[in-house]
Amino acid sequence: MAENPARSIFAQSALLDHSRTLGGWASGVRFVLRNGRISAIESGVAAQAGDERHACVIPGLGNLHSHAFQRGMAGLAEQRGDTDDSFWTWREVMYRFLDRMTPGDLHALAAMAYLEMLESGFTRVGEFHYLHHDPEGRAYGDPAEMSAAIARAAGEVGLGLTLLPVFYAHSGFGAQPPSEGQRRFLHDLDGFARLLDGARRAVSGLDDAVVGLAPHSLRAVSPEQLSVLETMVPGAPVHIHIAEQVREVEDCLAWSGQRPVEWLLDHAEVNPRWCLVHATHMTEEETRRLARSGAVAGPCPITEANLGDGLFPARAFLAEGGRWGVGSDSNVLIDGTEELRLFEYGQRLQHRGRNIVASGETRSTGETLWRQAVEGGAQALGVKGGLSIGLPFDAVSLDLDHPSLAARDSDRLLDGLVFAAGRSAVDCVWRFGAQVVSGGRHLARDAVVRRYRDSLGRLIG
Ligand SMILES: [Zn+2]
Repeated sequence: MAENPARSIFAQSALLDHSRTLGGWASGVRFVLRNGRISAIESGVAAQAGDERHACVIPGLGNLHSHAFQRGMAGLAEQRGDTDDSFWTWREVMYRFLDRMTPGDLHALAAMAYLEMLESGFTRVGEFHYLHHDPEGRAYGDPAEMSAAIARAAGEVGLGLTLLPVFYAHSGFGAQPPSEGQRRFLHDLDGFARLLDGARRAVSGLDDAVVGLAPHSLRAVSPEQLSVLETMVPGAPVHIHIAEQVREVEDCLAWSGQRPVEWLLDHAEVNPRWCLVHATHMTEEETRRLARSGAVAGPCPITEANLGDGLFPARAFLAEGGRWGVGSDSNVLIDGTEELRLFEYGQRLQHRGRNIVASGETRSTGETLWRQAVEGGAQALGVKGGLSIGLPFDAVSLDLDHPSLAARDSDRLLDGLVFAAGRSAVDCVWRFGAQVVSGGRHLARDAVVRRYRDSLGRLIG
């Protein structure tokens, strides 16, 4: 790559990486960028000629769990059915929705979802990608064709990508045969190894992409398969859906005598490269053990509310020093600030208290939520997060003219963002040093929306 000349961004205030000497809120901050990364940071200085000037800059969030194509069915599963609706009836609607989806459709839907992620303050996504095969369930000529569609979408709109190809082989605990609706997801281990090779090729043109993997759930993989999968991407992220549903817990108990999180902690080497997505239904003992494993918990508050999953035991998990981030999962509504708000509000409703998550050096709940989600999200996605030297400039600037941010000092600014303004106060977003959002609007929005609407017309019409 040719060396680009350095450019500089000046912020009246910025939230810098706490783990460095230069940490926390700083004023008069100049970021010098070279080839997308931060090469120098000065604080307590004045703007210089040629600096791009902004009011307030904070680090971008990682979105640790997404199924991009589900963006297209947002709002399509909100009609009451003939029987009691549940996660399982929602899943039937989802299986029908993806029935005819082509690689071109996936690209169009994913680009829409990824654009909205950027507009709402996410700068990287963990794509938990399980739609691999053609509508008949046969591998495409390039087995990673659908992965390549995801990579194209991320590259086009400029979102950082951690691609998590999903291994899926069974429909229930005890290696039950897969159902017809799952035909596009399935692999044996050899086929999955070829998919991983293809996925690595598919992301090779993107800036700092990461390829990990994801056993779909304890329902969908056998213990033998799980132990092989753990060894297939040394050092890279391993994500799994776990304990999202009460029925899943009951089925796991019937199969093994153990609950899902308990079983996983006893049978896999769960460590900081793992992300346990949802982990909704845990006993106190499971909560403590998960926190101490160093793995990241991945609640997806909007989706969990939409699907009626339950509440993540955040208060107990945080008391044990647990790490966490948020995911947009079903993408029924894409909004980083709202994920954080709902994460805290779920705890307030459950415990009938306030400011449950606030901790550490700040009393600010909004700032605690943002910081912890940046750190946990980055860990789960196999990168480092925050604004510090050497890291990509993945950043968000805030509109300090927004009424909900008026007259706030920095200690209360992120409370105003998370609890009052929401994404409407997101002004600019940069990813790998490139500005992709201006005035809250992605630069490629019109073209991406047009293609999304065409694709959805074919899929639903
Ligand atoms: Zn999911």
